[in-house]
Amino acid sequence: MYRRLVLLALFCAYAALADTYPRQPGVNVQHYTFRLTLSDATNEIEGEASIDVRFTEDQVKELALDFTSPTADGKGMTVTSASVPYTHKDNRLRLAVEPPSKSGERRQFTVRYHGIPAGGLRIMTNKYGERVFFSENWPNNARHWLPMIDHPYDKASSEFIVTAPSQYQVIANGALQEQIDLGDGRRLTHWKLSSPIPSWLNAIGVAQFDVHYAPAVKGIIPLQTWVFHQDQAIGPAWFEPTARAALEFFGESIGPYSYEKLANVAAAGVSGGTEHASAIFYSEKAILQHPGTGLIAHETAHQWFGDSVTEKDWNDVWLSEGFATYFTLLFIEHSEGRDAFVRGLEQSRQQILTLQKSHPEYTVVHQNLDDMKQVTNAIIYQKGSWTLHMLRKLMGDDKFWAGIREYYQRYRNANASTADFRKVMEETSGVPLEWFFSQWLPRPGVPVLEGSWSYDPGAHQVRVELEQTEDGPAYRLPLEIGIGDEVKSFELREKKQTFAFPSGQEPSTVTLDPGTWALIRVEKFAKAGAN
Ligand SMILES: [Zn+2]
Repeated sequence: MYRRLVLLALFCAYAALADTYPRQPGVNVQHYTFRLTLSDATNEIEGEASIDVRFTEDQVKELALDFTSPTADGKGMTVTSASVPYTHKDNRLRLAVEPPSKSGERRQFTVRYHGIPAGGLRIMTNKYGERVFFSENWPNNARHWLPMIDHPYDKASSEFIVTAPSQYQVIANGALQEQIDLGDGRRLTHWKLSSPIPSWLNAIGVAQFDVHYAPAVKGIIPLQTWVFHQDQAIGPAWFEPTARAALEFFGESIGPYSYEKLANVAAAGVSGGTEHASAIFYSEKAILQHPGTGLIAHETAHQWFGDSVTEKDWNDVWLSEGFATYFTLLFIEHSEGRDAFVRGLEQSRQQILTLQKSHPEYTVVHQNLDDMKQVTNAIIYQKGSWTLHMLRKLMGDDKFWAGIREYYQRYRNANASTADFRKVMEETSGVPLEWFFSQWLPRPGVPVLEGSWSYDPGAHQVRVELEQTEDGPAYRLPLEIGIGDEVKSFELREKKQTFAFPSGQEPSTVTLDPGTWALIRVEKFAKAGAN
C-alpha cells in the first residue's frame, strides 16, 4: 500500500520539481579566474577569485556564492577582502551588488582569501610518499576552496593561475597559457578553459609528474598523459590507446569534442576516476590494473555527457552517469563486438536486480533531492544505462543515434533536463515517449514476468502466457521471443496476456528476450507442464 502511494506521487510529480539548491534569478556567472598560491611549508592556501557575472534581471542586489566558513578545527576559508561590501557566514559569501543590477549588465567581483581546505582540494602524500595536491569537487565540494555557485545549473568557463614550488607540475582544465619561473624557487602555471562547465568539473593537480604528449587525436585534440614520474614507463601505454579510440568513436558518433585538450592524469585520493573537463583524474592505483577499457571509456564519454551537456538539476544526474555507463557499453560494442556488449548488459541487469532487493525504492530520477549524499547510486548508473538501451531498441539504431546527435548539438556547452532529452527523442522518432520515460525513470523496480509456453499441433501454434507480477500498474513492454531459431516481436501491455505465434512444428526452445533488449526479471518461464 505504502509503495503504491509513493509510486503515484512519483508519477504525478516528476516533471516539475527540482532539487532544493537555492537558485539566484537574474544571476549568470560567465567566468571564474582563480589565482592560488600553494606551499610546501603549510597546507594553507592563498586565493584570489575574480567572478565575472552577467545579470539577466534589473534590481539584483546581491551575489551569493558557496564558500566554506572557518571551522572549529582550524580549516575553512577566511575572506580578507573583496571589491565590494560582503558578509561571509554559514558557508555563504554574500557580495553586495551596488548599485543594483541592470538587465544585461556585466560586472566583476574580486575576493581574496586564505585557509586550509576542509575538503575539495586535498593535500596529501601519494603512493610513493611524495607531497601532492589534487582537487575532488564532486559533487559539491568546490565550495571548500573556490567561491562559486556550487551547483551545475550555472555553468561558467574558468582559469587557474597557480603558484607552486617549482619541483611540481600543475595540470588544470583547458589550454596552457603560460609557465613562468618566478626565480624564488616557485613557478606560476596558467591554464584557461574557454567552454562553460559546472563547478564540480573544475580541477587542479599538482605533483612531480612525468608528462607525455601524444600525437593529437584526429590531428585536432591534443592528448596528454600525466603520471607520477616513477610511472613514466607504464602511463602512456595504459591511457593512450583506449583514450584515443574512445575520443574517435564518441567524436564520430555523437559530435565534436568540446575542449582544448584531453589530459589523463593519475591522481592520489581518487577512487576510480573523475571526469573533470579536459583533465580526467584516475586513481593512482588504477594504472596498475589491466585492462582499463571500461574506466577510461566511461570518463571519456563524460566529456560529452555530464561535462559538455550537463544536467540542469541534481534530480537528473542520470543524464551524466546513466549516459556515461551506456556509452561505455556502446564503445565496447564498437571495439570488441556484440558478445562483449551483451556480457556487459547482462552484468548490468544483474546488478540492478540485486540492488533492487536491498533498495526497492531507488529510482533513476530523483524527486526533490535535498541530501547530496544520495546523489548517485548504482541504479542511476545501470538502470539509466538500460533505459537508453531500451530506447535504442524502441527507436531503432538510426533514429536513436540521430536523436543522440541532435540532443548533443542542441545542449552542447549548456544544461539539459530529462524533459529536454525526451523532447529531442520524440521529435527524432516522431512518436510520443512520455509513457516510456515515466515507466522507467521515476518508477522504482522492473517488470517481473512469470509464464509458460505450449505447442498446439492442431493449430500449428506456440501459445505463450505471461503475467506481470510486480507491484503497481502493468508496464508497456515491447518484447522479443525466440521460437527455436526464429525471433518474433510482441508487446505486453496488461498484467496478464496470452499470445499465439505460428510454428510448423514444436520448437525445441522458447526463450524470452533472446537479444538482451529488455530490463525484466523473469521469475519463471518454461514449457507448460514441465518442471
Ligand atoms: Zn561517471
